[in-house]
Amino acid sequence: MGNYDKPNGNPGGRIKKPPCYTLMRIFKWIPVVFIISIIAWSYYAYLVQLCIYSITNIAEKIIFIILYHIFLALFLFSYWQTIFTNVGTVPLKWRIPGSEIEKLFHAESQEQQKRILENFARDLPVTNRTIHGSVRFCEKCQIIKPDRGHHCSVCGTCVLKMDHHCPWVNNCVNFTNYKFFVLFLGYALLYCLYIALTSLEFFIKFWKNELTEGMGRFHILFLFFVSLMFAISLVSLFGYHIYLVLHNRTTLEAFRPPIFRSGGPDKNGYNLGKRANFQEVFGDNPRLWFLPIYTR
Ligand SMILES: [Zn+2]
Ligand SMILES: [Zn+2]
Repeated sequence: MGNYDKPNGNPGGRIKKPPCYTLMRIFKWIPVVFIISIIAWSYYAYLVQLCIYSITNIAEKIIFIILYHIFLALFLFSYWQTIFTNVGTVPLKWRIPGSEIEKLFHAESQEQQKRILENFARDLPVTNRTIHGSVRFCEKCQIIKPDRGHHCSVCGTCVLKMDHHCPWVNNCVNFTNYKFFVLFLGYALLYCLYIALTSLEFFIKFWKNELTEGMGRFHILFLFFVSLMFAISLVSLFGYHIYLVLHNRTTLEAFRPPIFRSGGPDKNGYNLGKRANFQEVFGDNPRLWFLPIYTR
């Protein structure tokens, strides 16, 4: 076992922040700013260049604008919720006290360390084990890791039911925001498909030279291209997460199956059947399933 730091008395389980912490925090927002900039440009291109300047039929104009704002609102709301929902951290009672850490540090063998951890975790609901059959524990946070929890090196803490750390939302996708993340992918896809389908007619007109002269027509050209490109990349990611939801599996578990105290590694260990798996993420009330609000 590696070196254990002395307990730092930091109750959230977070490790000490380096001096360049603020600068690093600012840099991590760059992918989010990039996405927001594209959304802002698409808003201008769709609303002004396509709906206001290019569509001549008033009824069509109004319907396109209303539908666009509904999809945009759902997309932005789920994006917001994914970014700003706090990650699920490990409760204090999972923290290993300093005296136990000392014992772990001075243990003579792996077997002895295993016994210390097993003894400390006897009242905690943990079924996951390491490859050596030991209770999982985090050296950095000095806690027993709950089942499906993992240490995120970007967030600097252990995270409950960790899926992965996503730079595009500058947050850990985990127990607390997984529903929002899946909805974010779904609504982003819907938003892109809607733009691509409704701008197709004007995209064709561009090549036939039927659009009014000026720079505006290039906005429409790129609007179609960009929305189609994003739709193609989102469709596989969204499909993959729907598959994971229905199998009650996280991205991490898909790569490395969880190891259970009895039964060993089993990637289907949490599978309760498709409907129950879906409800575990989206809640019991069908009217709230597709709204980015907390429902579990
Ligand atoms: Zn940790
Ligand atoms: Zn993270």
